Amino acid sequence: MTRTADSYIEEYFSSGTIADLPRDHFIGGAWVAPASGQMMETFDPGKGRAYHSFAAGNAEDIERAIKAASSAEKEWGRMKPSARGAILAKAAELIRKESAYLAVVESLDSGKPLGEAEGDVGGAARAFEYYAAAANALQGESFPLGHDYLGYSQPEPVGITAHIIPWNFPLSTAARGIAPALAAGCTVIAKPAETTPLTALLLADILFRAGLPAGVCNVVTGTGPEAGAPLVKHRAVRHVTFTGSVPTGINVMREAAENVTRVLLELGGKSPVIVLADADLDAASDGVIGAIYENAGQICSAGSRLVVDRRIHGELVERIVAKVETLELGHGLKRSQFGPVNSQLQLDRIAGHVDRARERGLSIVTGGNKATDPATGEGWFFAPTIIDNVPADDPAAQEEIFGPVLVVQPFDDEAEALDIANGTAFGLVAGIYTSDFSAAHRLARDIDAGQVFINEYFAGGIEVPFGGNKHSGFGREKGLEAVKAYCRIKSVAARIG
Ligand code: ADP
Ligand code: MG
Repeated sequence: MTRTADSYIEEYFSSGTIADLPRDHFIGGAWVAPASGQMMETFDPGKGRAYHSFAAGNAEDIERAIKAASSAEKEWGRMKPSARGAILAKAAELIRKESAYLAVVESLDSGKPLGEAEGDVGGAARAFEYYAAAANALQGESFPLGHDYLGYSQPEPVGITAHIIPWNFPLSTAARGIAPALAAGCTVIAKPAETTPLTALLLADILFRAGLPAGVCNVVTGTGPEAGAPLVKHRAVRHVTFTGSVPTGINVMREAAENVTRVLLELGGKSPVIVLADADLDAASDGVIGAIYENAGQICSAGSRLVVDRRIHGELVERIVAKVETLELGHGLKRSQFGPVNSQLQLDRIAGHVDRARERGLSIVTGGNKATDPATGEGWFFAPTIIDNVPADDPAAQEEIFGPVLVVQPFDDEAEALDIANGTAFGLVAGIYTSDFSAAHRLARDIDAGQVFINEYFAGGIEVPFGGNKHSGFGREKGLEAVKAYCRIKSVAARIG
């Protein structure tokens, strides 16, 4: 008997919580209370109120998860890849079957509108479907050593992998790291963000019910310093996948270096959306709005800079402002178009960036202030904001704000567009809107970013490798590239004649 999203939503608004949400760590195929006995609270950003408590993990809990993962390593790593794939496929099926519950919990914990959370749940299912198939396709090579020799390589799982998950896409980021790691035959310990712990726990339980052996996928909740740091520092961990901020990524890399543990870092961005004068302005304005206001701008790959040809600058900004001012703010579970930001801390960080931009005399053409749910006066909202004519070296054009703040940077020619686009410390993604095929591909060639979208921001899916250049990190998630992160190559050379 599956319940509808509406029945969970009704339960939440009438009781202030949802019954039977997970509380404990998921270790060795079971719910495990925190070693310290301590719990912490998770908040509904749409109300700014705590609604549930969960395990505050520490080094002792990490140690338990390491033990569970170590004892599961052989069985999982030696299982026939097709059998591993079948379990991942079953997990995808369960994710789809339980999608209403997962989406409601994701929306509630992160604040994002339910429609976006539903998209994320679909994305998580796609990741498991895709890597279920990829598990079968892992293969080595043979090397031409001549008649008397045999040379070949074989991918091996790297071992225990740690996954440090951010709060902006709690479920889909967990899925895009965990699915390829499992496909490769690795074991997993995931540490979700302290403000959004729930859907990673639900995912671990789904995997277990799909037939994953106990201990192969474990989730330990808690803060970064108390639960995350002991995990990435642990010498038994052979790979760390980290998605989050640049300073924390640098710390994680430093900590992993002590044990020569490999890292994959997906950090911030300040991604440009370049709009040429010949672009379809309807598509471009919708694209820009999705690029910066989806998830209230809390997306590493948000299109946070509109780099626009001066000849259409006024008209495009006008169109965008007109549409933005119709966005309906509201609690995520009320299926709003624009939700709150994830935490009070993040709200204050965003407001700080915008206040400083105002003090520097920049022109804020819409938004620029904190807001609340108009229905209740509650919640951690920041109004969709546009800052126009921002100089290339201004902090508003250089620093990642991680909120619903678009800066506009006009240009006069293609060379200047490229200079502006490439002129930050980041290099995650870029968008291009134009009807000129050659211009689009010239820009795509010359842009310093890991992924380029042409005429549809966020085009693509799990099939397309994703990751950054410069301070945006290194390594690629998604696509077949991602599986390589979780494999090490063994090569064998033999004299046989
Ligand atoms: P924010 O500052 O917005 O919380 P972070 O990049 O610090 O973003 O957080 C991303 C993830 O990294 C979260 O799961 C957080 O708990 C975790 N984290 C924070 N500090 C550390 C650390 N020193 N070691 C491992 N993980 C950490
Ligand atoms: Mg929360």
